[in-house]
Amino acid sequence: MATRDPGPFDGGCDCRHVRYRMTTAPLFVHCCHCRWCQRETGASFALNAMIESDRLQLLHGDIDMVLTPSESGKGQKIARCPKCRLALWSHYSGAGDAVSFVRVGTLDEPDRLPPDIHIFTASKQPWVVLPPGVPAVPEYYKSAERWPKESLDRRAALLARKS
Ligand SMILES: [Zn+2]
Ligand SMILES: [Zn+2]
Repeated sequence: MATRDPGPFDGGCDCRHVRYRMTTAPLFVHCCHCRWCQRETGASFALNAMIESDRLQLLHGDIDMVLTPSESGKGQKIARCPKCRLALWSHYSGAGDAVSFVRVGTLDEPDRLPPDIHIFTASKQPWVVLPPGVPAVPEYYKSAERWPKESLDRRAALLARKS
């Protein structure tokens, strides 16, 4: 795996009411090709950087949490700008509010966070050609097998804080 960008990373919405900062590198970056992500983006995949929510700072504005159905049936919370309604990050039921899935395309410099893995490639749109050398799985995967040790340690620390 290429050297990871240590951050920080700033981003925001189109109307600039919301500005946020990821204070460190994310835990992992998913490029998700599931049909749900295709609908939610209106495109071919979603690019999500997972990070502990206490490493995601709101620098300006406020956000509106919108409960949206998800494939698990348990729903996801999507943080949107209350003015321009752009989606900035999500919380899923699995990790809960402690982890944020930041939409990489809302970063000022999204090129700095390429995917660590492509997931749900079983429903990948056929014209999307995956680059060689980046892991890809037909559905999901076990983080213990794919994440760098530093990210696994951070996740263990997060779980310890939760309990
Ligand atoms: Zn906005
Ligand atoms: Zn997805």
